[in-house]
Amino acid sequence: MSRCLGERGIDHVVLERGEVANSWRTERWDSLRLLTPNWQSRLPGFGYEGDDPDGFRTMPEIIAFIERYATAISAPVQTNTTVTSVRGADPGYLVTTDRGDWRCRTVVLATGACNIPRIPAVAEAVPAAVAALDPMQYRNPDQLDEGGVLVVGASATGTQIADEVHRSGRPVTLAVGEHVRAPRTYRGKDIEWWMDAAGVLDERYDEVDDIVRARKVPSFQLAGSPERATLDLNALTGIGVRLVGRLAGIRDGKAQFSGSLRNKCALADLKMGRLLDTIDAWARDHGLDGEVEAALRLPPTRVEDSPPLGMDLASGEIRTIIWATGFRPDFSWLEVPVFDRKGQIRHDGGVTEAPGLYLMGMQFLRRRKSALIDGAGDDARDLSGHLAAYLDGRTAAAERVL
Ligand SMILES: Cc1cc2nc3c(=O)[nH]c(=O)nc-3n(C[C@H](O)[C@H](O)[C@H](O)COP(=O)(O)OP(=O)(O)OC[C@H]3O[C@@H](n4cnc5c(N)ncnc54)[C@H](O)[C@@H]3O)c2cc1C
Repeated sequence: MSRCLGERGIDHVVLERGEVANSWRTERWDSLRLLTPNWQSRLPGFGYEGDDPDGFRTMPEIIAFIERYATAISAPVQTNTTVTSVRGADPGYLVTTDRGDWRCRTVVLATGACNIPRIPAVAEAVPAAVAALDPMQYRNPDQLDEGGVLVVGASATGTQIADEVHRSGRPVTLAVGEHVRAPRTYRGKDIEWWMDAAGVLDERYDEVDDIVRARKVPSFQLAGSPERATLDLNALTGIGVRLVGRLAGIRDGKAQFSGSLRNKCALADLKMGRLLDTIDAWARDHGLDGEVEAALRLPPTRVEDSPPLGMDLASGEIRTIIWATGFRPDFSWLEVPVFDRKGQIRHDGGVTEAPGLYLMGMQFLRRRKSALIDGAGDDARDLSGHLAAYLDGRTAAAERVL
């Protein structure tokens, strides 16, 4: 957004509570690599120029990449400045920080979709003898006691942590709810390449049937590894991870798992098949059938006949629970009445109801890719156009920009 505002000659400042790339520096586990390939982290005027476009950045590499970008575009970042409140101050807004106040006509909320781990209420019933961690506290398996680990949640974070922890010799049980399965590579190319090329990631928020639902879809079960390995549930059971259903409750120290595991897996297999059908149709229509490998389908997810419906957390079998149950944004400092009953910001593709207040980086904000690094550029181009027209007093023009 800073780059797009700069291009339009709009005076602005970027306030950051930590250093540039703070979330990658402070909130991720040690072994994490991006699950999007190097070529895919495209920012306005800045792409990948190395010799490994299909590789996956480590955390030090992504931090360096974002730092290089901030320098290249001379972003006016004021670091170590925490915004403590934003409120209306006719005209515009008053932004209060721990290093002084700012008055401005417009504000772009770009504080990220993943500020706080989303932990279910049942967490309160976990017996005291079992350690509990969220993905922002988790760094590596050495942190954990020896013994069994229950990982709750089987999307990108849960499957990656389950894989690493199980390989460390701590037997993992993985509680699986709704999830999105995908092969890492398909017909010889990365799945992200296909979704990018076929326009899946560009699908707009006003084109999908149910945007409320689309914004809640969990992340793909994907990991970025040098081996380009698929990290689905079959890969995990292949190394000995045990699958159970969604964690439904904990009573008297006993975890209760939903009986829906088989159905959830069948649904994920079905949806993966639909995605691959879309890709196959696109490949056929674009004359790629002769150039890429033949279409194939992965075997269905293997589920044991009677997965356990309960587990005694007080028995000592499970020493640690890791809550990989998603993240949510933190707007506790936003004092502008733009929230719905569930506490989420009401917006139309990032344009809030408060004039001059914009939102970025949320799940499916304007496009399916909006919450990816690669999605920021297109959204910033659109929203900076709206913001520029608003500053010019051209409200009708602002609507047309979108
Ligand atoms: C575990 C994990 C893995 C991910 N892997 C990928 C991936 O492989 N590829 C990909 O494209 N995306 C990935 N993402 C999504 C990724 O976080 C986003 O693509 C990207 O970080 C979005 O950038 P952002 O600037 O919107 O948010 P963030 O990177 O979260 O940046 C928000 C910034 O706002 C700052 N901030 C927050 N509150 C305040 C405040 N009150 N005052 C001042 N500053 C504040 C934060 O310090 C932070 O630096 C992953 C996310 C997670 C959680």
